[in-house]
Amino acid sequence: MSTSTPIIAVIGAGPAGLMAAEVIARAGFSVAVFDAKPSAGRKLLRAGSGGLNLTHGEPLSAFVDRYAERTGQVAPMLDRFGPSQLLDWVHGLGIETFVGSSQRIFPVDKKAAPLLRAWLTRLRGLGVHFHMRWRWVGWQDGALQFDTPDGTQVVHAHATVMAMGGASWPELGSDGRWVSPLEQQGILVAPLKPSNCGFQVAWSDHFRERFARQPIKSVRGRLGSANSNKDAWHSGELMVTEEGLEGGLIYALSAPAREAVAQNGHTTLLLDLNPGRSEAQLAERLSQPQGRRSLARHLKSKAGIEGVKAGLLREFCDHNVMNDPHQLARHIKQLPVPLGKPFAIARAISSAGGVRFEDLTQELMLKALPGVFCAGEMLDWEAPTGGYLLTGCFTSGWIAGTGVATFLRVVEQSGTR
Ligand SMILES: Cc1cc2nc3c(=O)[nH]c(=O)nc-3n(C[C@H](O)[C@H](O)[C@H](O)COP(=O)(O)OP(=O)(O)OC[C@H]3O[C@@H](n4cnc5c(N)ncnc54)[C@H](O)[C@@H]3O)c2cc1C
Repeated sequence: MSTSTPIIAVIGAGPAGLMAAEVIARAGFSVAVFDAKPSAGRKLLRAGSGGLNLTHGEPLSAFVDRYAERTGQVAPMLDRFGPSQLLDWVHGLGIETFVGSSQRIFPVDKKAAPLLRAWLTRLRGLGVHFHMRWRWVGWQDGALQFDTPDGTQVVHAHATVMAMGGASWPELGSDGRWVSPLEQQGILVAPLKPSNCGFQVAWSDHFRERFARQPIKSVRGRLGSANSNKDAWHSGELMVTEEGLEGGLIYALSAPAREAVAQNGHTTLLLDLNPGRSEAQLAERLSQPQGRRSLARHLKSKAGIEGVKAGLLREFCDHNVMNDPHQLARHIKQLPVPLGKPFAIARAISSAGGVRFEDLTQELMLKALPGVFCAGEMLDWEAPTGGYLLTGCFTSGWIAGTGVATFLRVVEQSGTR
């Protein structure tokens, strides 16, 4: 590539980068997308293999709260390009959607491939050029520097959107290696941490051998001690792994659990193994005569506890608890499961940390590097699963793309380009 070609560079062909590329191309500028991988949208495609949860149908006032500490920064972006604009855009690609049972919104076939195919066709039609296997490695005298199959290439961009993702599932492209070149420019990056991730549990050998890879269904969970009532219960499923627990229920608790573990080295997950009955009901039923039944059969018939749930009780309750109907009922409703470290970031659904909003303008331009914008999961925000991650990426890509177009017009008008 000629080093003098006037170009708007988008680095990262995930949902955030592609959305920025579309907005900039529609504004009439020449856009080139660069990506380290051989093809675009690999994580988006992977997300589609489990059912592509694009966004969520709850009211925007509740939706914005999912961005927790970053609600203040994300809410103004969602006001401009929120779930309803996102759905209009998806429908404009010819992809129909439906609202699932928990208000999660999916394409009708739940897949990402048709959406990505239609999108890439549209982008090529808008004149967007793709440079695959181009890995951005930093700046050289103000120009973007890439490692490519043809050696090092430099690109003089009039504006740049960085959308290189977080650091989860690095095999799909987002490996967090962009942190060091940004830090070399004096940009402070909040450490990348696992989000929507599993946690270690020190299982006994017996429990691990017997129950690893088994799901735990119809449970509720919250963090804290049995005496504290401050945290809300979350419903969902868990999966026992060799090392601990993963699955939607623990992902929903992962941000506070991660911070508690960072502070204290551990935290406690309280599990309600029978959400359908109260502690008093369970105590009354378990107090009924056991007769000649084993405790396992008594637990199953009176409390509906068997299999992995019975295994969990035996793992964390001593003999005295197991033989006292009242204590047993209390533990069925609030079984304390000690959690250790989060699983490695490479296994997490998403990452927390990234480029800090304090270093960005409202248009997501780096204050220290005019003309360089950031979008997507590489920004310092996190959200639970439920479509909030993709929505955050699409919306920030849209904001950054709009910001680039405004920036270029101002530069053109001032004649400094
Ligand atoms: C298994 C799984 C399922 C998921 N399911 C859902 C879901 O249903 N709903 C939801 O909302 N979210 C889901 N997510 C999260 C969602 O996919 C991500 O949040 C989203 O893809 C992030 O978009 P992004 O554009 O910021 O980054 P990415 O999609 O990660 O794209 C970043 C791109 O940048 C490229 N890149 C990285 N470094 C460089 C470099 N140095 N030079 C050039 N290119 C580079 C990468 O190759 C990649 O193509 C899921 C994630 C996983 C792992």
